[in-house]
Amino acid sequence: MFRSRRPRYQAVVESVVRIAPRMARITLGGPGMAAFRCDEPTQWVKLFVTDPADGSSVGRAYTIRRYIPERPAVVIDIVLHGNGPAARWAEAAVPGQEVSFGGPRGSFSADARADFYLLAGDESAQPAVLTIAESLPPGVRALAYLEVEGPQAEMDVASPADLDVVWVHRAVGQPKGRALSEALRSASTPPGRGVAWAAGESISIRDIRRHLHDHLGMGRNEAYAKGYWKLDEADHRDPDASD
Ligand SMILES: Cc1cc2nc3c(=O)[nH]c(=O)nc-3n(C[C@H](O)[C@H](O)[C@H](O)COP(=O)(O)OP(=O)(O)OC[C@H]3O[C@@H](n4cnc5c(N)ncnc54)[C@H](O)[C@@H]3O)c2cc1C
Repeated sequence: MFRSRRPRYQAVVESVVRIAPRMARITLGGPGMAAFRCDEPTQWVKLFVTDPADGSSVGRAYTIRRYIPERPAVVIDIVLHGNGPAARWAEAAVPGQEVSFGGPRGSFSADARADFYLLAGDESAQPAVLTIAESLPPGVRALAYLEVEGPQAEMDVASPADLDVVWVHRAVGQPKGRALSEALRSASTPPGRGVAWAAGESISIRDIRRHLHDHLGMGRNEAYAKGYWKLDEADHRDPDASD
């Protein structure tokens, strides 16, 4: 998934802002990032941080929500799920802290033959879905299903496309991802050739992948679906993802 020959960059935490009750927006900058480039939606880096609980170092994948080349800086939105080293780091992060990251990896480009786009994600994939939404061609039909804990976690979505956003609220105690896969299964899609992009909890993404293939008739070139994390598994790598 990640090869160590990717360049590694040193960065400093410039700011930390809560953009939702359980989501921190962290801006990283500094001269160590001068050679970094990121020019496609969904691109991600492996962020190396220190767990404040025990001082161990870990690397975890995070999407570049925004790249600001003139500073240079990157903005990363991190889910504060409270249960892993990177989430704990983000919850305690303060300006001035040093981190490093490698990458970027991943890619997304609009498909000129798509009649509509179907996008789906839980909070971990919300940054990637939003980068896609912002990059879609003007006027193309798009539907984005985003699972969050409730209305307090919804946010504005900008897109040149003809985009409808469906905010899917998790019931209290419901495992993450289940409401998203249920909503996707009952979604009615526009006619024509659809292109889907989905990511989030791995088991729910497996269900979504099956639905895209078996019920919406999308092949591998039309449907990208990747588990970004897995319930009760640290540092999950999705064996079924195509990258
Ligand atoms: C390509 C890619 C891009 C990603 N982009 C983002 C991003 O922009 N923002 C983001 O927040 N995440 C993103 N993720 C997901 C993130 O890498 C994982 O959530 C990662 O597991 C977090 O590491 P951790 O150290 O907090 O937890 P881990 O040590 O990996 O896991 C510890 C425990 O926490 C649980 N856990 C992990 N993630 C979550 C979660 N989101 N909600 C609830 N429980 C969880 C696990 O099931 C496990 O039980 C991305 C993943 C990939 C593969």
